[in-house]
Amino acid sequence: MPRSSPPPTSPAETPCATAPVIVWFRDDLRLADNPALSHAVASGRPVLCLFVHDPGHAFARALGGAAQWWLDGALRALRADLVRVGAVLHVARGDAATLVPQLVAQAGAAEIVWNRRYDPVGRETDTAIKAVVKEAGVAAHSFAAGVLHEPWTVRTRTGDAFRVYTAWWRAARAMGEPLPPLPAPAQVPAAPPPAAWAEQCVGIDALGLCPVAPDWAGGLRAAWQPGEARARERLHGFVHDGLAGYGDARDRPDLPATSRLSPDLRFGHVSPRQVWHEAVAAVRGGDGAGEQDLGKFLSELGWRDFAVSLLYAQPELVSGNFRTEFDAMPWRDDTDDLRAWQQGRTGYPIVDAGMRQLWHTGWMHNRVRMIVASFLTKHLLMDWRVGEAWFRDTLVDADIASNVINWQWVAGCGVDAAPYFRVFNPVLQAQKFDPDGAYVRKWVPELAPLPTSCIHTPWTCDPAIRRRVAYPSPIVDLQGGRARALAAWKGLSGA
Ligand code: FAD
Repeated sequence: MPRSSPPPTSPAETPCATAPVIVWFRDDLRLADNPALSHAVASGRPVLCLFVHDPGHAFARALGGAAQWWLDGALRALRADLVRVGAVLHVARGDAATLVPQLVAQAGAAEIVWNRRYDPVGRETDTAIKAVVKEAGVAAHSFAAGVLHEPWTVRTRTGDAFRVYTAWWRAARAMGEPLPPLPAPAQVPAAPPPAAWAEQCVGIDALGLCPVAPDWAGGLRAAWQPGEARARERLHGFVHDGLAGYGDARDRPDLPATSRLSPDLRFGHVSPRQVWHEAVAAVRGGDGAGEQDLGKFLSELGWRDFAVSLLYAQPELVSGNFRTEFDAMPWRDDTDDLRAWQQGRTGYPIVDAGMRQLWHTGWMHNRVRMIVASFLTKHLLMDWRVGEAWFRDTLVDADIASNVINWQWVAGCGVDAAPYFRVFNPVLQAQKFDPDGAYVRKWVPELAPLPTSCIHTPWTCDPAIRRRVAYPSPIVDLQGGRARALAAWKGLSGA
């Protein structure tokens, strides 16, 4: 139902006060610090809460399997949270660019609101939808909710995007504290769903987001519970009990030393502003952690924004090398090596532990992500895009910007990246960051009986012990793999 006249500015002015406002949820599956939802409630209009599963969206790539599993739980949790405040979550499936304007028209809505996203396809879709609904006389407003600072606000003196993290972080810090978070609305006045929505709104079950045959999600279910309530608990627990010592221990995969908030941030169960302010309040309230731990944690949170801002400035980085000389890199194509890496059978315990942790839980410790990514792109000389695709399918926190920017960073072809010739040695890394082998023993249990002295180098064990352990020999020699990678890199012009 296109509207011929512009919408009223205030419901009190008009007989159309009952025309609903639609809140379109996307990567912001929460009630608190949700400016679009708060705006809708403050408008005094009845509210229709909408989620559209657009399988084609995520940068024209399907959402990976683990992220789909998370989304299923996230939508169920949001639905229950909305019911508690009097509202209903309507879940539709299809191409958002076509479907959203249709749903707006069918609802006779006065306004549609959403929180902004920053990836190129998302931006393009949102701009197109805004134009179509405005043309039909419906107001459309968007809000900042998913980052600490929107990408275009942190710029160099000449107005360009930053390419160096430390400079970006300094400029971001100079902008002051991010805005304080908004409270969750106590009530959301639900509008009755338009009859025509019954056909479009299929419900969560019909999205088929969870694996069935085979059901590979048992490890994910054991490790995580998606939703705002659990995310707030995780955040609270971390800032009060986990932040002290973060600066020193965050690189240790054998310790529970990081927040594990990445999937909650990815799906917006908590906002980065909430994380920021709760961490600051805990430290200033004297909860054990010092300014150094706080500073390190906030700067890690900053990396998330930095990745968003890089992709915003250069959308082509989603698949193109930032350092274009890497376009000529003679990447290897070896299915056996790739399978061994994916399945955690490389013969290097820390690499295999990381890849198995990823497969079982949908998450991997940051230090180990760097080790396995370096192993793939350097020792195995395989294209970072192959690793990025595997992470995209298997991570519950898979995020276009963070994934692509970090893969390019490790592979040496990215912005502000470690030089390619700095090749992580997985044995030395393991000895430094998993000194007792506890992480390896947990995820590669067949190695558990080995003494600590050879837990990261099983090939050096006493043959009598080694024979009792069914574990593969290394698929690549570390020195040979490193030399091959460096020779390939030296062959690039500009390297
Ligand atoms: P904490 O140490 O508690 O940090 C707090 C938050 O800061 C994180 O939840 C995350 O949102 C952010 N953060 C921390 N480090 C980084 C970083 N290097 N880049 C961007 N944000 C960061 N993170 C994702 O969220 N999604 C991805 O798809 C992703 N892919 C990655 C791929 C590779 C190859 C590498 C090396 C890193 C990747 N990361 C990704 C970044 C990082 O590994 C995770 O954000 C972190 O491990 C999440 O654990 P945590 O929540 O306990 O982190």
